[in-house]
Amino acid sequence: MFGDLDDLYQDIILDYSRNPRNFRKIESPPARVVEGHNPLCGDELTLYLLMDGDVVRDVAFEGAGCAISKASASAMTTAVKGKTRSEALKVLENFHDMVTSGNAEVFEDDKLAAFSGVHKFPARVKCAMLGWRALESSLSSTDDESGAGVSVEKKTITTE
Ligand code: ZN
Repeated sequence: MFGDLDDLYQDIILDYSRNPRNFRKIESPPARVVEGHNPLCGDELTLYLLMDGDVVRDVAFEGAGCAISKASASAMTTAVKGKTRSEALKVLENFHDMVTSGNAEVFEDDKLAAFSGVHKFPARVKCAMLGWRALESSLSSTDDESGAGVSVEKKTITTE
């Protein structure tokens, strides 16, 4: 039974890494840009976040990394699109709890639960969290509302 579940989860992760969702740049309107690095594994990604007030209007990423980092960033984009800032941060918190504890109960949806097995490989937690940490950093940025438009803030984060 658990073997079947592992196979299902593995299939989901492979699908998300081979056919990443929202794997593109957001050119316009200007998006918040955060570059994330995981030196331990060599994963690198650039996250683009477009807010509409308090709501995630669009989120996308580009980059190169291992299957886990790519699949996780990909699943993240589909999970938080349309959510408010606080809802997105809550999903992030739950995801982090899951990849460190292995407890996937909080997620009804297979695409996020698929990453529960990552807790068995502590070094890969940083891979799984890279896109999410970039999102967290991006959500904490503020757009310039002074008049001339939205300023694009470019930040770099490194997973520790
Ligand atoms: Zn990695």
